[in-house]
Amino acid sequence: MNVHDSERISGLLEDAGYVRAGEDDDADLVVFNTCAIRENADNKLYGNLSHLAPVKSQRPGMQIAVGGCLAQKDKDTVIAKAPWVDVVFGTHNIGSLPALLDRARHNEEAQVEILDSLERFPSTLPAKRDSAYSGWVSVSVGCNNTCTFCIVPSLRGKEVDRRPGDVLAEVRALVDQGVVEVTLLGQNVNAYGMSFADPDQPRNRGAFAELLRACGDIEGLERVRFTSPHPAEFTDDVIEAMAETPNVCPQLHMPLQSGSDRILKAMRRSYRQTRFLGILDKVRAAMPHAAITTDIIVGFPGETEEDFQATLDVVERARFSSAFTFQYSPRPGTPAATMPDQVPADVVGERYQRLIALQERICLSENESLTGTEVELLVVADEGRKSAETRRMTGRARDGRLVHFAPGDTAGIRPGDVIHTVVTAAAPHHLIADAGVLSHRRTRAGDAHEQSRTPTTAPVGVGLGLPTIGPPVPTPATAAAPASAGCGSCG
Ligand code: SAH
Ligand code: SF4
Repeated sequence: MNVHDSERISGLLEDAGYVRAGEDDDADLVVFNTCAIRENADNKLYGNLSHLAPVKSQRPGMQIAVGGCLAQKDKDTVIAKAPWVDVVFGTHNIGSLPALLDRARHNEEAQVEILDSLERFPSTLPAKRDSAYSGWVSVSVGCNNTCTFCIVPSLRGKEVDRRPGDVLAEVRALVDQGVVEVTLLGQNVNAYGMSFADPDQPRNRGAFAELLRACGDIEGLERVRFTSPHPAEFTDDVIEAMAETPNVCPQLHMPLQSGSDRILKAMRRSYRQTRFLGILDKVRAAMPHAAITTDIIVGFPGETEEDFQATLDVVERARFSSAFTFQYSPRPGTPAATMPDQVPADVVGERYQRLIALQERICLSENESLTGTEVELLVVADEGRKSAETRRMTGRARDGRLVHFAPGDTAGIRPGDVIHTVVTAAAPHHLIADAGVLSHRRTRAGDAHEQSRTPTTAPVGVGLGLPTIGPPVPTPATAAAPASAGCGSCG
């Protein structure tokens, strides 16, 4: 979500006349799009800002802006800690950035603007996309849940859903420009349909399954993914839509957080271990080869060794193809931060290592079971580690797995193209396919990537019930560095 917001920031700045700085150029503007999901994201920002202070003092006119969740959380504190910052903007007013930069320049004074609620959907802002072949599309922003560890609702606000027609129009706009893969984004996609911004759009519990099926009708769209569903609200109609819509990928990210019912209750996650495992069974019954990934927090306040064993037990049974594992990080203002029985750091660290060791073993054995199978890969640019000697390229399988493959004599394979190959070896976090390429299909995405063309999407839809207002008034051109994302985990 954060990475996608950065694409909106880039689009907005380009529309306002800024030009992306080259890798080695000294930028006139640096924008930090920050994350606040865990404490280390905070620390990273202030470290980065300190590095920029001497650069800015030697470069008259240079501007620094800080946006995103951490800015929303810290507000004036950003300027107090780093007085050389020019603009602080929050999660609800990304669209104000160009005007705030102008005002800071004109008034020669830092501008801080943080709103309490969403000004307009980020999707009604122009976007400059990072990838020629894969695109993010938001279905909603914000979250109505109250997980006790999570800072997202306080920084992103209540859930607001986009109209299905607007979502589909944006997907089509991307596909028209060659994109073959789309990931639908929301903090809880299963709640989609219950909080439409448009008062004329009827509430509809089945809206997400319907959206997936509608994506199935878009010609040229080869792969549809989504993140994140919520185990409490995940319904059978979504499983059926996934299984029956050929371009929806056999991949599911299903955040577990903890395997202990007691801890899930304290987290205010309303599903329990049995329901969670039941969902996985249903998904696998409908899609036997689905790869299921998860998020797990270790060391939530009050977590005992027995609770942690319950997490290990679920992990053993769930056979996740991979897991994002996090050490619990107290977030200001969340109920869990002040709960008694915070788990000591050494205990958390030790449990975390045990969890990783178990999941690595499962990742490897799941991946090994794929040796000898044929896979379809969407070739990607610069993802994962490649061996220089073997000159492997990298692609993503339909189930989301990363595969390093040897292109052999097949000339001209480009990121964005689609190939078939056979898996010859496995590691915990990737597969190897060294026996050569069975087929190679050149795609429009590959053409676009080769020509360094990435899609731009014009504002789509209405902003919170109001008609879309036009792009911001252009300002004088200044070279802009790419907006840098935070930890990138809050997708
Ligand atoms: N909406 C998604 C989660 C978004 S945050 C969901 O409900 O699954 C991404 C992940 O960050 C969470 O799934 C959780 O595992 C992790 N996370 C969130 N807050 C955290 C905290 N305070 N400490 C450690 N991990 C946290
Ligand atoms: Fe919402 Fe996810 Fe945070 Fe829970 S963890 S409050 S569902 S964003």
